[in-house]
Amino acid sequence: MTKVDRLRELISAANRIVIFTGAGVSTESGIPDFRSPGGVWDRYKPIYFDDFMSSRESRRETWRRKIETDKTITVAKPNRGHKAIASLISRGKASAVITQNIDGLHQISGVPDEKVIELHGNSTYCSCLDCGCRIALQNVLEPFRRDETLPECPACGSEYVKTATISFGQPMPEEQMRRAQEVTLAADLFIAIGSSLVVYPAAGFPLMAKQNGAKLTILNREATELDQYADLVLNAEIGPTLSAAVGLN
Ligand code: NAD
Ligand code: ZN
Repeated sequence: MTKVDRLRELISAANRIVIFTGAGVSTESGIPDFRSPGGVWDRYKPIYFDDFMSSRESRRETWRRKIETDKTITVAKPNRGHKAIASLISRGKASAVITQNIDGLHQISGVPDEKVIELHGNSTYCSCLDCGCRIALQNVLEPFRRDETLPECPACGSEYVKTATISFGQPMPEEQMRRAQEVTLAADLFIAIGSSLVVYPAAGFPLMAKQNGAKLTILNREATELDQYADLVLNAEIGPTLSAAVGLN
């Protein structure tokens, strides 16, 4: 029996699958991950939340990078991996997608908003850190492109307007963490896909599922930190592997 056959079996025996994704699920859509060669960390050092808050120059650098990364994110389309995941949700096999990604591709692939739990937020719109209101990305990027004007919140005037993402050093979103825990504890099969599983607290969910009695599967091109705890590890490409396991080929 191949590992894909084994994954197909695990999926067919399960009723409350939780899918957990990292940057690797979106590389086939043309968005680079962080830790592969040529990934984001090869080019940029992260900007920590405290620096964003305390320095206008850090905020300018953040928006400059956003303009760069948007060149890939705005044209990216869901790939076979996203579609296989969306089909597990629409068939009622999977209850939720917990994602570390900020690209919104799970929603575009057809997973309903309420079934996507975004642990690190979403970079396709902005929010005000003071009043919480939502601000269209375009309304921020247009003036910034012109002369690097930093945004101000149209509702409360705050200068702390940021993409709706969670930066290093920024508190995790409470409601998403709570929902992620709830679905993880109800899962009978937990499938971690395209994540190096080194960023915490996100990487705590696969172990939480396993310790709570769920089967744990890891699908990633290279070894991860949590392979030793998994019932099944597939070191393979996500799109072809997942579409074969879900029967979309
Ligand atoms: P990571 O870069 O640490 O790990 C990605 C993993 O996916 C790597 O181990 C890599 O080998 C594997 N991978 C890449 N393409 C693959 C493919 N086609 N098939 C199989 N495996 C593949 O990413 P992470 O664990 O998500 O952690 C990094 C952080 O970066 C996350 O918190 C996330 O918020 C952020 N991020 C998001 C995006 C996005 O939204 N698309 C992109 C880059 C980074
Ligand atoms: Zn505001």
